[in-house]
Amino acid sequence: MAGAIGNKPKERPKYGMLSNVLFMMREAWRIRKPVLITAVLVTVVQIIRNIAELYLTPSILGKIEQAAPLPELLGTIGGFIALLAVMQSSETYLNHFASWDRIIVRMEIGNRLPMKMLRTSYPNAEDKEYISALYRAWRGFAGTSSAAEAIWTTLIDQVKSIFALIIYVRLLTHLHPALMLLIIVTSIAGYLASRHISEWRYRHKNEEGECQKPMRYVSFNAVNRQTAKDIRIFNMQPWLEDVYAAGLRAYEAFFDRCGGVTMWGGILDAALVFLRNGAAYAVLIGMAIQKNLSASEFLLYFSAVGGFSTLVTGVVSNMLKLHEQSMDISAAREFVDRPEQFRFEEGEPLHPDLNEEYELRLKDVSFRYPGSDKDVLTRVNLTIHPGEKLAVVGLNGAGKTTLVKLLCGFYDPTEGEVLLNGVDIRVYNRRDYYRLFSAVFQQFSILETSFRENVTQSVADGDIEKMMECLKKAGLLEKIDSLTNGADTHVGREIYDDGMELSGGETQRLMLARALYKNAPILILDEPTAALDPIAENDIYMKYSDMTKGRTSLFISHRLASTRFCDRILFIDGGVIAEEGTHESLLKKNGKYAELFEVQAQYYREEGRNHE
Ligand code: ADP
Repeated sequence: MAGAIGNKPKERPKYGMLSNVLFMMREAWRIRKPVLITAVLVTVVQIIRNIAELYLTPSILGKIEQAAPLPELLGTIGGFIALLAVMQSSETYLNHFASWDRIIVRMEIGNRLPMKMLRTSYPNAEDKEYISALYRAWRGFAGTSSAAEAIWTTLIDQVKSIFALIIYVRLLTHLHPALMLLIIVTSIAGYLASRHISEWRYRHKNEEGECQKPMRYVSFNAVNRQTAKDIRIFNMQPWLEDVYAAGLRAYEAFFDRCGGVTMWGGILDAALVFLRNGAAYAVLIGMAIQKNLSASEFLLYFSAVGGFSTLVTGVVSNMLKLHEQSMDISAAREFVDRPEQFRFEEGEPLHPDLNEEYELRLKDVSFRYPGSDKDVLTRVNLTIHPGEKLAVVGLNGAGKTTLVKLLCGFYDPTEGEVLLNGVDIRVYNRRDYYRLFSAVFQQFSILETSFRENVTQSVADGDIEKMMECLKKAGLLEKIDSLTNGADTHVGREIYDDGMELSGGETQRLMLARALYKNAPILILDEPTAALDPIAENDIYMKYSDMTKGRTSLFISHRLASTRFCDRILFIDGGVIAEEGTHESLLKKNGKYAELFEVQAQYYREEGRNHE
């Protein structure tokens, strides 16, 4: 496992800090104005509080030195305490008030990530790099402590610290200029060292993710109902434990390297702080002896030096935090900016209509999956006539599903064209193009909602009569009738506790009902009966003509006998259409199709004899 964990190319964020801060401000203003208004108010309150804290002790001490009357002394103390209390409670109130708005802003912007993923060009949905980029982008928006929310606190803290720093500089101007320079230089050196560490972490984020992947995989499988049986029967626990342990080792090794980089940063930082504070206090004590500073002045300068250096460090570390938060926000913006391979709204519109005729044509189409060095399909030419019932057969891995993906516009060919009534489909709005198709794909993809919403693909306005008709055709009506809530019964238990668990066959029937309901001009059925029992399968075949009446259909199967009712059969082999024709003509041809059919038929004949 560890061998798979390699270094990815280093990356730099596309958007700088200023750009990301302005972006967040613009969005906050648009989504929830109170986020910005309260941020300004909290900053003001914090500045007042800071000044009050700085002057509190020296002012009281000053009054005592001047032997001020008791009421004046008590008034000063009371005034400061009241001011601090008001500032403190206003800050708490404002922060509480702003917290919900900050969450909403984070979630609204963060929502663009899954939305982008849901709407992106299909090849991205199968692309590992794209999915990792989504997870990386998500980090800045996942939870209250993530960059998109924490940035407000950092910004407030930074503005307040810079303001306070200006006051302190004015206060300390008559300290030794070289000392001021030392404080500033050492703080900036500390900042640069920390920034180097933080950039190192950012550049190695991919690596960290790679280390976590095997552990996530094992955790996922531990709760995955689909693999639970196999894990037990095939005793896969030790293997999964090894995978986890290897991931953990890689993670530990990564952290050791992180530790090395951070440790040197820490040592440098400690040395700089020691130098800075030591020098500052030496100068101040010297001044106290030579210039005869009063106790209250000494105290004011003493807290100012301490405060100044804390502030410089604070500004620097805030800068660093902001830098990290900005990188997280940039990752999300970069993800949303990723260009699309397909045309959507900017493409030509298409308005599929059942009364129109659609001819689909593959012209010299070759295709290889991204990152692969081998063509799955080579120079395929195929015309699907309007209303034709086409069957695609072939061995596992022959390229049947890939052919369907190209026809449906999930992938564009590497070479050649897919033409709809003679026009390259790439010019169309791809979302419009998908409206031409209805499909039952191999993977089960039922949503955790009611039967009704699954079939009608709509929350409110489904045609109930048509839905019942489709459920009947798909053989689910009896089941629905037996349920207390009928078609309003929920499917699955991930979301609804009262949901119904469906068997594989029932799921496939529900998918068929959904496909029939869509009533699109072209129906794709990719092994739609694989999970059905023979009686149910036969039932679907008998209804096939009725189900596909008036539309083009493409039926994929590896059960050759099941394709007899199609007008034309394509036999895919070696990346090309090796044979095509009707079932009878292909048998007559005595080629590969006939050979495979004979293998399957023989099996059934033998089965029959055994039963006799
Ligand atoms: P069939 O449907 O005939 O069983 P497929 O079209 O699914 O075959 O697959 C054809 C070939 O393409 C197989 O060798 C398979 O491994 C490969 N393949 C399928 N999907 C992908 C993918 N997303 N990325 C890379 N290779 C793939």
